[in-house]
Amino acid sequence: MRGEKYLMDKNVTVAKRLPRERRKTFYQSKYEYYKGFNRTLLIVSTIAYLAFFVTDCGLYGRFAYETLFSRAIIFVPIGIFLYMYKKISNYQVMVVASYIMIHAIIWCTDWATYILPDRTYAGEGMIVMNIIFVCAGFCAPYKYAIIGHSALALDIVVANLFIKYDDVAMMLMFNIPCIIGICIMHYYMEKTYLDHYLINEKLEKLVVHDQLTGVYNRNKFRTISDADTEEFVICEDAPLSVIMIDLDYFKKINDKYGHEAGDIVLKHTASVLVKSVRSSDFVIRWGGEEFIVILVGCDVNKAVSIAEKIRENVENSENSVCPVTASIGVAEYVGGSYHDVIECADVALYQAKKNGRNQVVQYKDE
Ligand code: GH3
Ligand code: MG
Ligand code: MG
Repeated sequence: MRGEKYLMDKNVTVAKRLPRERRKTFYQSKYEYYKGFNRTLLIVSTIAYLAFFVTDCGLYGRFAYETLFSRAIIFVPIGIFLYMYKKISNYQVMVVASYIMIHAIIWCTDWATYILPDRTYAGEGMIVMNIIFVCAGFCAPYKYAIIGHSALALDIVVANLFIKYDDVAMMLMFNIPCIIGICIMHYYMEKTYLDHYLINEKLEKLVVHDQLTGVYNRNKFRTISDADTEEFVICEDAPLSVIMIDLDYFKKINDKYGHEAGDIVLKHTASVLVKSVRSSDFVIRWGGEEFIVILVGCDVNKAVSIAEKIRENVENSENSVCPVTASIGVAEYVGGSYHDVIECADVALYQAKKNGRNQVVQYKDE
């Protein structure tokens, strides 16, 4: 798989080299990680913007009712942003919204500056904006950050048409190097975060996979169930069934052919299970020579026929050691902790062993 190659490639530290879908997942996770920080940044920036009304009063030497409206109007864009923040989780929409919000602060500042009698301090405000743009870059893809921040120069040029700054050339000469420097920083900030993200992804993969067979291990249950209630979070209203598989007389294989040969049989069995179900199902090594298959969207009748197919495949597929069979218990999830449905499948499995092995038994609540 193309994505897998990149995970192993130490040199991949630039997101644009990731395949498109994986890059989107990366940016979404980056946004999710920093979105709370970004919201706080915008709220704090809005408060700072409102606090500049005190400066206005200082300039007038009285209550500056002239700029009151241009200051208070900021509640509209921040209100819209916070509403969107609650409703929308897509990083593309929200990153664009946060840059528009920052520019809204600039446009409102321009409006207030247009009204003010003295524009001596207009340039200072831009220093503050550069700092805000640095922080906004944390949750954004670097291309968005570069476009969003570079637009600051355009804001200055357009605002100058109305405001007529005392020295717009100096303002641009100061801001453009700042913008270029910070854009380079955005690029390296993203490289650093991508490094961190790839390492984390690799570790997460190791934690939920069984080293011998390559299928999932028990830890996978943590990612597909609720941490408090232990209820499955992967089925919503769809049915879900659990199949428990235990190889028959496996101890004898170990005793007769050795532990390493036993390992080969386990690896082979795991590959048979993976091939027997859909890629959306979960094959988990529960421990030793016991496996669990979680079938999402399958009621118990369908699960029994899949279990029968698995049993036949285990019996008929050849491995390099010896023939092997499996006993299987099947149960349908009816809500509650995942441990409950596993226990039911285990009861059915015990029955299959008791009935003579190499068979499928469906759990019956008796
Ligand atoms: P039954 O039909 O009743 O299931 O009989 P069984 O011999 O399979 O009995 P049991 O399920 O209790 O045996 C499990 C054996 O699996 C015991 C243990 O030595 C072996 N085992 C557990 N983990 C591994 C492993 O990682 N590799 C190998 N080779 N053997 C393992
Ligand atoms: Mg066993
Ligand atoms: Mg066994």
